[in-house]
Amino acid sequence: MAKQIDKCSFCSRNRDQVELLISGVTGNICNECVERAYEMVRDIKGQQKDGKGGFALNKTDLPKPKEIKTFLDSYVIGQDEAKKFLSVSVYNHYKRLLQQDAGDDVEIEKSNILLVGSTGTGKTLLAKTIARKLHVPFTIVDATVLTEAGYVGEDIESILTRLLQVADYDVPSAERGIVFIDEMDKIARKGDNPSITRDVSGEGVQQGLLKLLEGSVVNVPPQGGRKHPDQKMIAVDTKNILFICGGAFEGIEKKIANRLNTKVVGYGALKATEHVDRSNFLQYIAPQDLRSFGLIPEIIGRLPVLTYLNPLDRNALRQILTEPKNSIIKQYTKLFEMDEVELSFEPEVFDYIVDKAIEFGLGARGLRSISETIIMDAMYETPTSGKKTFKITLDFAQKKVDVMSAVRLKRA
Ligand code: ADP
Repeated sequence: MAKQIDKCSFCSRNRDQVELLISGVTGNICNECVERAYEMVRDIKGQQKDGKGGFALNKTDLPKPKEIKTFLDSYVIGQDEAKKFLSVSVYNHYKRLLQQDAGDDVEIEKSNILLVGSTGTGKTLLAKTIARKLHVPFTIVDATVLTEAGYVGEDIESILTRLLQVADYDVPSAERGIVFIDEMDKIARKGDNPSITRDVSGEGVQQGLLKLLEGSVVNVPPQGGRKHPDQKMIAVDTKNILFICGGAFEGIEKKIANRLNTKVVGYGALKATEHVDRSNFLQYIAPQDLRSFGLIPEIIGRLPVLTYLNPLDRNALRQILTEPKNSIIKQYTKLFEMDEVELSFEPEVFDYIVDKAIEFGLGARGLRSISETIIMDAMYETPTSGKKTFKITLDFAQKKVDVMSAVRLKRA
């Protein structure tokens, strides 16, 4: 009996022949059998690599654009246009991969996407949410850290390091993945004449990025950061990687407005601009505005799907606070529930939080910090207070925010 306990019940190797032996009620399993079993489970669940190097894709299982959008709706408020564009692009990306697997000779070109919208309107949230539904490796990277090779910062190729990591360094899988590049506007050319001073994070980076977007084989440092001579590189072909780029492009509204105004020549054009909604110029964004902003034409050409996010109005902020599946209020309610305390709010508290977020100019990001200020003391006290309910009243909320404002004023 004692002997059997010291053996793996699956491969019969002794404890001293394996790194780890895990004991169960009636048998044992070694670390290697655990790994093999895990791979088998992945296989069965269809998440295993499909032998062609991609995550298993099957046409009938593919989420259709409307399904993807409905899924996005439960986490992201509004932004219908961007959601539609994203859903279709991701769906087409899958179809493209399937078609290639089938060896079809009509080559569908990939359509990388650019999302333009003010900070805090949900670009990253959209990308993160869609990632939950994806059947291919996905990662988010930040363009601000990129510089041309040879400068301080990260080489452009390091964008793909994260994707490789997510794909467990399975290169063929990574080569079919999706990369979200955030802060894309930060690599726009700063001045009109780039040759006067070296624009380290501008045009050179765009040229480098272009290589990735259009598809080429690049050498990726497996650990990221800067390349160094001793590091072994991994060659990755970006032909099938879908790039979704996002950026605030602050000030681009002015360029759009200028373009719309300068087009007012002749009677017909005047009529066309009469219907311009001046409260949201972003909805008229066109490739030429990106060019005026400082993106090079080649990059713009490689981002053929261009869409925008709307600014969030009071109504949207109010919805964001309570409606998404994991809304801020639902998260706090859950936290209290874990201590068996029922948390409730006077409805006016929600309007108050929204008003303050607008007053402080914090947008959607402010909703969390203001809510945190209001609820912090309650979260400190209730786990030990023995109370079973906690109601946040408008008066309570106002007092907490007033205290915070007074403290901040004193510090300033
Ligand atoms: P950015 O556009 O700058 O990438 P984020 O997606 O990071 O903005 O948004 C910041 C936070 O604001 C999110 O984590 C989320 O809580 C909230 N938020 C912003 N926009 C929305 C939205 N449309 N629906 C739901 N929550 C949103």
